[in-house]
Amino acid sequence: MNEKRVILVVEDNEANQVLVQAVLELDGYQVQLAGSALEALDLLRDLVPDLILMDVQLPGQDGLSLTRQLKSDPATRAIPVVALTAHAMAGDREVALKAGCVGYIAKPIDTRTFAAAVSQYFIDTETDRHVVAG
Ligand code: MN
Repeated sequence: MNEKRVILVVEDNEANQVLVQAVLELDGYQVQLAGSALEALDLLRDLVPDLILMDVQLPGQDGLSLTRQLKSDPATRAIPVVALTAHAMAGDREVALKAGCVGYIAKPIDTRTFAAAVSQYFIDTETDRHVVAG
């Protein structure tokens, strides 16, 4: 791994924050945490992360609404957003993709495979494409 990639984790559940941060840092990522859409928007004024992990269910503005907002803003449009949701419903993936997410990871996360799953969604700087689409 080269320079540390920065991941913004938008997640309101403290136990999930701790777990996701620990797993990603162990894999060499730098993690920024936001507990709400407001906190995320505040951080994104100064921070351009390489990836955003977006909990769908947040207090206040939900994760998919925030994703739509980020995708309509030229300043944040290019940042890949991966949805994190406890819902395992078949249609959820499509809903997340429609909101502008590049992919979807179900919670509870599998700590053995989570970092590898996340790594697929970074933009390959040489081709400017996602390693795996969807
Ligand atoms: Mn939540």
